[in-house]
Amino acid sequence: MTVIIDGKATADRLKTRVTGEVAALRQHGVAVGLAVILVGEDPASHIYVRNKIVACEKTGIVSSERRLPATVTPAELKQVIAELNQDPSIHGILLQLPLPAHLDENEMILAISPDKDVDGLHPVNAGRLMAGLPGMVPCTPQGSLMLIQEMQPDVTGLHAVVIGRSLLFGKPMGQLLLGANCTVTQCHSKTRDLPGLCRQADILVAAVGRPQMVKADWVKPGAIVIDVGINRLADKKVVGDVDFAAVSPVAGAITPVPGGVGPMTIACLLANTVKAARNQNNLPS
Ligand code: NAP
Repeated sequence: MTVIIDGKATADRLKTRVTGEVAALRQHGVAVGLAVILVGEDPASHIYVRNKIVACEKTGIVSSERRLPATVTPAELKQVIAELNQDPSIHGILLQLPLPAHLDENEMILAISPDKDVDGLHPVNAGRLMAGLPGMVPCTPQGSLMLIQEMQPDVTGLHAVVIGRSLLFGKPMGQLLLGANCTVTQCHSKTRDLPGLCRQADILVAAVGRPQMVKADWVKPGAIVIDVGINRLADKKVVGDVDFAAVSPVAGAITPVPGGVGPMTIACLLANTVKAARNQNNLPS
């Protein structure tokens, strides 16, 4: 029978662990602090930031929000990031993306101290992941790997197919699966015979942004299917990149949307913030 992977339950367990770790750090005199920078008035970004701040409050992480107008200049934004880099009460800096078009996201991510880069997007952290060194790992792929390993703790030798090669998700997901000894095929918009490659996957991860693109006949019977996509349809319903109703009878395990990968992203952000606080205070895990 197909397992519907309950991302919310796993995320709740991780948040409980984080709450304990935040309390333990407080006993060492460290109040774990996360700063969220929000530029402009994008309504979706405001909701995401609000959710992150509420999650921080629940675990005891002290959060502060820096709201900047959409007209902020690159120099002004870099100045705010520089101040937060220097502030010892701030252990993690999250720059909510996307930024308004006149701001270069790569340039701004480069301005964040790699030690405080809790989104794991700085090239130093991307390089550390590639080199197999400890660093900040992007939250959504980290959470996706946790869900995969809940189903199959040892994925050695399994064939993982990742659809998507973004810096935010696809590339780090491929690296994490490689690090876990999977054989990884990384697919993208120019890939030939995507359905045929997907059919070979023991683990299929879809992060495309196309509603219900992955069909039942793309999936090997018994495969673990991780659906990262978040797509809002005209009727406001949110669906993933996988045709859940058709694929779930074929898969061995599958994440729903919502309630699968999504909750893991915030939980891993909180875990990364605690890790950053520990590292910056030379405290062991
Ligand atoms: P992105 O930067 O737009 O990347 C999409 C990737 O999909 C690209 O690599 C693109 O290939 C590939 N692609 C596009 N059309 C394709 C096709 N027809 N066949 C095969 N590959 C195709 O998006 P992203 O930031 O990685 O996010 C992907 C999805 O995950 C979105 O729905 C996003 O909302 C969701 N997401 C969810 C969470 C969460 O917390 N659950 C977090 C992050 C993202 P090219 O590189 O060739 O263009």
